[in-house]
Amino acid sequence: MTDGPKYGFDTLQIHAGARPDPATGARQTPIYQSTAFVFRDAEHAAALFNLQEVGYIYSRLTNPTVAVLQERIATLEGGAGAVCCSSGHAAQIMALFPLMAPGLNVVVSTRLYGGTITQFGQTIKRFGWEATFVDFDDLDAVKAAINDKTRAVFCEAIANPGGYITDLDAISAIADAAEIPLVVDNTSATPYLCRPIEHGATLVVHSTTKYLTGNGTVTGGCVVDSGTFDWSANDKFPSLSQPEPAYHGLKFHETFGPLAFTFHGIAIGLRDLGMTMNPQAAHYTLMGTETLSLRMDRHVENAVKIAEWLEKDDRVDYVTYAGLKSSPYFDRVKKICPRGAGGLFTFAVKGGYDACVKLVNALEIFSHVANLGDARSLIIHSASTTHRQLTTEQQRAAGAAPEVVRVSIGIEDADDLIADLDQALSKAVS
Ligand SMILES: *Cc1c(COP(=O)(O)O)cnc(C)c1O
Repeated sequence: MTDGPKYGFDTLQIHAGARPDPATGARQTPIYQSTAFVFRDAEHAAALFNLQEVGYIYSRLTNPTVAVLQERIATLEGGAGAVCCSSGHAAQIMALFPLMAPGLNVVVSTRLYGGTITQFGQTIKRFGWEATFVDFDDLDAVKAAINDKTRAVFCEAIANPGGYITDLDAISAIADAAEIPLVVDNTSATPYLCRPIEHGATLVVHSTTKYLTGNGTVTGGCVVDSGTFDWSANDKFPSLSQPEPAYHGLKFHETFGPLAFTFHGIAIGLRDLGMTMNPQAAHYTLMGTETLSLRMDRHVENAVKIAEWLEKDDRVDYVTYAGLKSSPYFDRVKKICPRGAGGLFTFAVKGGYDACVKLVNALEIFSHVANLGDARSLIIHSASTTHRQLTTEQQRAAGAAPEVVRVSIGIEDADDLIADLDQALSKAVS
């Protein structure tokens, strides 16, 4: 089918990017489990390598099953193109790679997925990149953190784990004024709840491991490009605007226009970093995207019910869910993610760290795992697991204080989930 604005989200999540297999008529997208693809002739091969013709060479770069998923996610996000890769963390590196060089920095929110704080705070230093962490509710601090070596601003739309919503319009205005791209991790919101490009984001990254797949089967990531950023407006992004020595002097922006970032991601990012998504993973994620809106509506409905129940319970100190009227971010939800604040939140258990550990052990339906965005309900005590390597101060800033647990509310019966929390809280708080 031809994709476009005439179709609604529910139609696009099933059809975008896919067509019946031209060879067999297969209605479902086949898993093209092939490393390499035969060239028609030497001329065809040359055209593919020169990026004059789009096609398949070798699955580290492009694969027909992965290509369907790329087009589907790009369409759902309202982007010009997308590159899938092996994990959400790979997507973050793939997004920054064309923009950065040793000595340059990225300004990032303090409210991020725990693994991202470590990736940005420690690991990227090995590339000579720096991350400056700032409270994104303090707009003056965000402005002040940007300097002439800054090449991107990075945040999450709905920030995991603390029930925080970023004011994407305000942040993108700051990035625009500094002539640098805003990169938004939209994993927790998904394009059904939030469309960052409509709020000014240049790039959107995903851990497709989570809600897009929706069943906890495979890891994957994706970088979506809005196609609207002018990489040639100044000399900040030479890999996109100037002759790129890693691709025989090709000027990506001049040659590919709005698809410059996407082509760069495949021709250089995947070619040289090799963080490729495999076709089997793309298949599972394609299956997941077909029911994304249905699942997200139920995740939100259940999360609201359970957060409201917890908030009234006197074994619980507080609940940080932006979908609660008591949340300081309640008004931002209407602007940034009008269909709801997602399925993730934290709550503080009376009795602190020890009570949290007991609660996690006593639950029967909720699984204690380091994951989110599954159809099944999940819980984790971040301070003793995912955020364990951070200081207590960093844990608090990230919304993962020692006395809180994070839940990823699934799509089971809300009443069963409430009953499970009720019995486990009785055991945890005496
Ligand atoms: C899980 C997650 C990541 C990392 O994704 P992986 O697929 O595990 O590499 C990044 N950001 C957010 C918000 C996540 O939830």
